[in-house]
Amino acid sequence: MTSDKTKTQFTGEDYFPPDMTPGELELLVAFDIWIHEKYPNPERKGCPGRDRLEAVVRAKTRVEDEYTLKHMSLCAACLDEMRAIRRELAKALPAK
Ligand SMILES: [Zn+2]
Repeated sequence: MTSDKTKTQFTGEDYFPPDMTPGELELLVAFDIWIHEKYPNPERKGCPGRDRLEAVVRAKTRVEDEYTLKHMSLCAACLDEMRAIRRELAKALPAK
């Protein structure tokens, strides 16, 4: 049994906005590593679903969906899904 932790080198570059300061990014990367160890949630228990995650990704103002926001901070599976959604949206949008 080998862990795939070393295989996926997480840099945060495809995950977070590019205008973020390096310090913020490091914190978030540390958080991401931590949450995958602590709350991998492979069964997707209590996950709000793709539509609600996408709404959070697309939100331009404060997100009102408290359930989803709270859940995201305790679910690595949803964070991974949001990363995928963000990538898809970035591809769909014209580059600035
Ligand atoms: Zn979830």
